Amino acid sequence: MVNILTVGIIKSSLKEVDVKLPELLELIKYKPKKKKIFIKPNVVDAINAKSGVIALPQLVDELINYLIKKHDISKEDIVVGEGTGYFNEDKHFERLAKESGYIKLEKKYGIKFENLQNTERVTKKWKYGEIELPKYLDTHEYINIPVMKTHMQATVTLAMKNQKGLLLLKDKRNFHRSSTYGSLHDSIYELSKVAIPDLVVTSAIFALEGTGPTLNAQSKTKKLDLILAGTDMIEVDNVSCEIMGLDVEKIKHIPKVKFSTIGVPLEAVKTKFAEADPFLKVRNLYVNQSDAACTLCTMSISRMFRKILFVEDLRKKFEELNKIYDRIDLVIGSDFEELPANAKIGQIFCVGACTSKLAKNNDVPIVKDCPPNHNDIIKLILEHTLK
Ligand code: SF4
Repeated sequence: MVNILTVGIIKSSLKEVDVKLPELLELIKYKPKKKKIFIKPNVVDAINAKSGVIALPQLVDELINYLIKKHDISKEDIVVGEGTGYFNEDKHFERLAKESGYIKLEKKYGIKFENLQNTERVTKKWKYGEIELPKYLDTHEYINIPVMKTHMQATVTLAMKNQKGLLLLKDKRNFHRSSTYGSLHDSIYELSKVAIPDLVVTSAIFALEGTGPTLNAQSKTKKLDLILAGTDMIEVDNVSCEIMGLDVEKIKHIPKVKFSTIGVPLEAVKTKFAEADPFLKVRNLYVNQSDAACTLCTMSISRMFRKILFVEDLRKKFEELNKIYDRIDLVIGSDFEELPANAKIGQIFCVGACTSKLAKNNDVPIVKDCPPNHNDIIKLILEHTLK
């Protein structure tokens, strides 16, 4: 018989988190089974959490406070960590901690926001052989804190997808390569069998809709003033999909399961999230992206778009290009055998080491690095177009 657990739903504004989060955890009768705690928030970008792109540091702060006061957990036994692709080097991770607000946990509790790229690992067997995961999954109570967001490749990024932040950089890339593992969806699903959180708290005070997972011209913040919590990750993700107005059966990495909810009635909080476009686009600048393009490349593209839109002299230059060319194409990811059909020679650029062969075979200019730097992409486009 399948054991159906209960997912809690509570209304909470940012100001009410100190009261509402404990209320939610009491509602689902959460009690940690271990005395050591590992918290994995989704902190994918160096951006203010009110954007809906990252888990609110205030939520994590109140969770820590609750664990210390209610469950007698020592602050020395709490770890907060994330392993992003884009901010994997320590100097970049420090910037991530600062700009996301997670650095405040260190000042308040002495809990350092840990770069999981450097953490001790254990080897686990999974469908595709062996995978190295943080040792904390064995030694600590594991709390997964995703944000409710739509995602251009995975359709949504919730608790199951948040677990990609547990991976080493090489595995993050391999998750997008069907030649190494299965599809992205299958890899996320298989990971959920070996990385199993004890608690999921989904942050939907600020959520993100459109072409996520980060802020760009095609995505926008959605303020829901909601928090969800449950001890079964797949059930919590099912409830999130219901709230987002998305059919879970169309999201290939999330199995449809039965669930029950407690707190605010599910019907009262259902809404409709704008879904992600399959490609990023600003004016005449198109990004052709295969499923094999990993988050590092998509992050570079998002940062490039933000710069083009918000740095005035660049904005003017790209407006000029918009008048001259009907389209300019970028290609990211390794699966392209040929140039995209609508692209025109002289107006197409390859981005990232994965596109080296395509660039060479077709004599297309390229930013060869992996990951590619967003400034180099802008430079390459301008060098070859604005003459
Ligand atoms: S080139 Fe881009 S898509 Fe390919 S592995 Fe590097 S960052 Fe990922």
